Amino acid sequence: MISFYPGPSQVYPQVAQYLQDAFDSGILSVNHRSGAAMELVRETYQLLHEKLDIPADYAIAFVSSATECWEIIAQSLTTRQSLHAYNGAFGQKWAEYTQKLGLNVVHQPFGLNEVLSLTTEAETICLTQNETSNGTQVKNSTLRKIREAVPNALLVVDATSSMAGVAFDWTAADVWFASVQKCFGLPAGMGLLVYGPGAVERARTINERNHYNSLLFIDENVRKFQTHYTPNVLNIYLLKRVLEQVPPIQTVAAALQQRAQSLATFFEKETSWQLLVANAAVRSDTVLAITGTIPQIEQIKQTAKARQITLGNGYGDWKETTFRIANFPAINDTDFTTLRAFLTEA
Ligand SMILES: *Cc1c(COP(=O)(O)O)cnc(C)c1O
Repeated sequence: MISFYPGPSQVYPQVAQYLQDAFDSGILSVNHRSGAAMELVRETYQLLHEKLDIPADYAIAFVSSATECWEIIAQSLTTRQSLHAYNGAFGQKWAEYTQKLGLNVVHQPFGLNEVLSLTTEAETICLTQNETSNGTQVKNSTLRKIREAVPNALLVVDATSSMAGVAFDWTAADVWFASVQKCFGLPAGMGLLVYGPGAVERARTINERNHYNSLLFIDENVRKFQTHYTPNVLNIYLLKRVLEQVPPIQTVAAALQQRAQSLATFFEKETSWQLLVANAAVRSDTVLAITGTIPQIEQIKQTAKARQITLGNGYGDWKETTFRIANFPAINDTDFTTLRAFLTEA
């Protein structure tokens, strides 16, 4: 089976060997405050900084999931007002959970084909870099403009389905987070929270210590190469091995971008399918959404399945009228050749 599901997604084939290596190395049975575990965490941080080009003054925490990050941000980094600009289901859910935690949430929906523009200050501004539900993205240049337009806001970015696939302008935001089952090509069960000096300063000012997931506790542990709870050591180990194997982010991102463009052209020129996002300037590099009628979508997913190809279901408002294709680094070009051949015939 070839899977184009945008999360959980196809893992790197090398993961099979890395799992065995993890077991053989004995790391799965060590205490998470031991030297061996701290060394693993230290090496993984170093590789993340190197391979993803994360600035030295941005720290990385291992957490449980991207969804958990929504809560950490609402609890540890915001006291009053959280502004959420979104055009899809993930951004909207984030806004709703933040509201349920009692914060004053300002909703700023925007159009599917619209380039996001923000000029109103807020205590915290929450954006989804890559909206997995509809295949749109907020580009580096857009984020940088927002940063300059609202310099007092803490800028927080959900990059769940793009981190490790897109080269970010890290300092354009204070916090970025992701889960490993998307562009990292790993099994689900771990999230990464990347945060800069602005976030640490904000956390210290607020001084929230009522949750085990207080960013202050998290940060105190990060500085010691530890975690504030018993972490997913297996996934940290797998992440380290995958990072050793992958090229630098600029190389990965350029290849994905090229593949995304070529796929878009393929759909436009060689099939009768329509891309959900008409404006190429906001179209995602890592998730493509293809639109059709409900019966067409149902039919293509079934035919694909019979051919051992999993297409991603639609999501949120586009659940039944789209299918999605993950353009993640772990999926190789041969799989895309198979997909194209199938779509040309089908
Ligand atoms: C997948 C996804 C999430 C949720 O990730 P979990 O690992 O399930 O917490 C959040 N935001 C976006 C944009 C996603 O694509």
